[in-house]
Amino acid sequence: MTKWVYTFGDGKAEGNASGRNLLGGKGANLAEMSNLGLPVPPGFTITTEVCTYFYAHSRTYPETLQGDVDAALAHIGTLTGRQFGDDVNPLLVSVRSGARASMPGMMDTVLNLGLNDATVQALAKNAGDERFAYDSYRRFIQMYSNVVLDIDPHNFEDVLEEYKERKGYVLDTDLTAADWQRLIVDYKKIVERESEKPFPQDPRAQLWGAIGAVFSSWMNARAITYRRLHDIPESWGTAVNVQAMVFGNMGDTSATGVAFTRNPSTGAHELYGEFLVNAQGEDVVAGIRTPQNITEAARIAAQSDKPSMETVMPDVYNQFVRVTQLLEKHYRDMQDLEFTVERGKLWMLQARSGKRTAKAALRTAVEMANEGLITREEAIARVEPAALDQLLHPTIDPKAPRKILAAGLPASPGAACGEIVFSSDDAEQLKGAGRKVILVRVETSPEDIHGMHASEGILTTRGGMTSHAAVVARGMGKPCVSGAGTVRVDYANETLSVAGTTLKKGDIITIDGTSGQVLIGAVAMLQPELSGDFGTLMGWADAVRRMKVRTNAETPADARVARTFGAEGIGLCRTEHMFFEDDRIVAVREMILSDNEKGRRAALAKLLPMQRQDFAELFEIMSGLPVTIRLLDPPLHEFLPHTDEEIAEVAKAMNASAERLKQRSADLHEFNPMLGFRGVRLAVAFPEIAEMQARAIFEGAIAASQKTGKAVTAEIMVPLVMTKAELDLVKARIDAMHAAVKQETGVDVPYQVGTMIELPRAALRAGDIAQTAEFFSFGTNDLTQTTLGISRDDASSFLGPYTAKGLLPHDPFVTLDQEGVGELVQLAAARGKAARPAIKLGICGEHGGDPASIAFCEKAGLDYVSCSPFRVPIARLAAAQAALGKKAASQA
Ligand code: ADP
Ligand code: MG
Ligand code: MG
Repeated sequence: MTKWVYTFGDGKAEGNASGRNLLGGKGANLAEMSNLGLPVPPGFTITTEVCTYFYAHSRTYPETLQGDVDAALAHIGTLTGRQFGDDVNPLLVSVRSGARASMPGMMDTVLNLGLNDATVQALAKNAGDERFAYDSYRRFIQMYSNVVLDIDPHNFEDVLEEYKERKGYVLDTDLTAADWQRLIVDYKKIVERESEKPFPQDPRAQLWGAIGAVFSSWMNARAITYRRLHDIPESWGTAVNVQAMVFGNMGDTSATGVAFTRNPSTGAHELYGEFLVNAQGEDVVAGIRTPQNITEAARIAAQSDKPSMETVMPDVYNQFVRVTQLLEKHYRDMQDLEFTVERGKLWMLQARSGKRTAKAALRTAVEMANEGLITREEAIARVEPAALDQLLHPTIDPKAPRKILAAGLPASPGAACGEIVFSSDDAEQLKGAGRKVILVRVETSPEDIHGMHASEGILTTRGGMTSHAAVVARGMGKPCVSGAGTVRVDYANETLSVAGTTLKKGDIITIDGTSGQVLIGAVAMLQPELSGDFGTLMGWADAVRRMKVRTNAETPADARVARTFGAEGIGLCRTEHMFFEDDRIVAVREMILSDNEKGRRAALAKLLPMQRQDFAELFEIMSGLPVTIRLLDPPLHEFLPHTDEEIAEVAKAMNASAERLKQRSADLHEFNPMLGFRGVRLAVAFPEIAEMQARAIFEGAIAASQKTGKAVTAEIMVPLVMTKAELDLVKARIDAMHAAVKQETGVDVPYQVGTMIELPRAALRAGDIAQTAEFFSFGTNDLTQTTLGISRDDASSFLGPYTAKGLLPHDPFVTLDQEGVGELVQLAAARGKAARPAIKLGICGEHGGDPASIAFCEKAGLDYVSCSPFRVPIARLAAAQAALGKKAASQA
């Protein structure tokens, strides 16, 4: 018989941390903490298998579940000396969701469940505190109505605000028991009006309502979006945790809080967190009151006048510190903890691995390895390669003048600049139009995820370092300033104002998530620091990775950036980019528009010295590292003049009539240029182009090696090859040119000729092609287009629904389609190696910078990946992780 329910509490549990798939992250860790003997309110977890069952059986439960839940409730009752639904000594519970992967804010929690008109009186009596009891009841009505009955919380908030105003109250804590009692009457009326039913008084009905709501929330829009963004499969399901309530709202010796064992923003090794006295549950993160610091050191650093937990409850604080240390050691990772203090007694409510910025991930990984808590290999595995992106982006130049508009909390580091928008929909829309925006909200909620994604940075006027905006922005790697309290936001008029300055939608601001400043206008930024922890971890990664990492670069600037990021050569230099430059486009056009070889050669002669100089400079920057240069690839018509002015300019240079040029240009028109006259086909028709480029490469190599004293490794790459014969033809010209240059200069430049594998036919015939090609570089952009028959430039209109409907797991132009395109890659690699064991294999498509695709390249046995300069560090780390992953798999 399947076990659907697992209990925990009183120093033991039926599950533990390894039961994550079944119990969800929260349930597994509650069990683990119970097993460790930590103070955890007793409870039970309804497994993720019930969620699966629920959806497979038209939202019904397994037959035995009800009995299992009753038994588990009775067990909690025994441990707490209370009874669920009892009018004298009622057991109250929280109902909490908990998926395998933590999904912050995605699923809603109901607290104080079991309260009704009768049990609230018992609660008041037993606690000796009426105010507390009615405060709990009104919270319950509001939460339950929101989560289970789907009633907009504004209904309740409006009534409360109005009431406070009428009474002259400022804080919720100003309300007395009588006030809450009166409000509860109104709250119940709202429920009756909105749901057309009275608020449910039967605790069991409440419980099953809440359990059903948690399971149903697995399929709500917020959860679906979050899963899509984080690659969490729908099939995982969520668990439900039912747990005895402990109360942080029982007066001044009670509190609720959240803490991290290290600073999640910087990674500094210090206890970091916030708490609120006399508060419950989400009050800390909801930004209703400004929370207090946990440690005295943090309070002083924040210049807060509100006392720290360390001073107001020293005993509980000391106990808490010990618990945090124990948990970090036990889990061997930075912990994100939720706790409540009920009348001086500490209760642990949640432990999980803390989300952190890339900076903090790096620092904690490096420091934990140095402390001996984890190994270097684990440190490498701990840092998400894509997150490094955050560190590679600009920060505000400290020397730049700053026009400070306001200051808030430094919630997520990095600087961002953009137009102000006040709604997530606007953010998404403008982003779609190619604009950069800063999302400005009073506070954010899970409904804002799409807007936060679309914006460069986020500014909120309310909420602390653990508010929704702060946590989510850190997870996304977006700069965020939260709780900028002096900023007034006027949604209706789409303006924000601070002490007399008003900005409107569309005005530019810069936010500095590292300092918390909000600045007027666009402010100068600085390039990132690549030494320190970053350098250390990269060094460790480099020591374990097998694949080399090269860059795709054609400009000296890109090549230099890539070198500072650790590129080990150029894997793809697209020579056509060099053709577009102002001073040479006319010569390029002359070459294309000539209808005879003589004319073409004349134009090419003008291009030769420029190309030679380009290559010499790249070789020099790469100082001895391999440089792969691809011969001209795009269809010629891309270079053609369009305007009459441009045509006249070329006509003059060529001494030809504009009419004739227009005609020639019309002749070159193609219906399907992607599959047209491009790649090696150009070299077949006009070998003199390839010859000029080969000469420029050899002569550039000679110039560079004379200057740097380092031998240059030139790799000449022929694009879009489908047969060995095509490659043979072009290679013969290159070899001849090499011989000619050697003859002229007496220098024998080492070189290789290889090809891109970007057509299915080339992959299939890789065995023949490798007889000529000394290297293969998988051009996976074209190989994806030609294998899937999808034009990358036109895909946006139809690919979206494919990923949304799960027909494709990812955008195949971002993450390699391993099953299809990947099979061609593997097959070509194997056939190439069989024909030429020493063949060099690499990838130079967009996928060369995508961690999942890099893991595939490791498995396929490629020698290197090549990606854009900013992705080089990501690729270095991903390649290291792939090598470690492969090692682990082969040991298992
Ligand atoms: P989330 O997944 O959004 O973090 P939780 O289930 O952790 O939601 O609940 C949110 C908060 O509610 C907790 O941090 C805690 O403060 C409070 N809470 C949950 N269960 C209990 C409980 N049994 N007693 C007291 N407070 C609770
Ligand atoms: Mg929450
Ligand atoms: Mg929580």
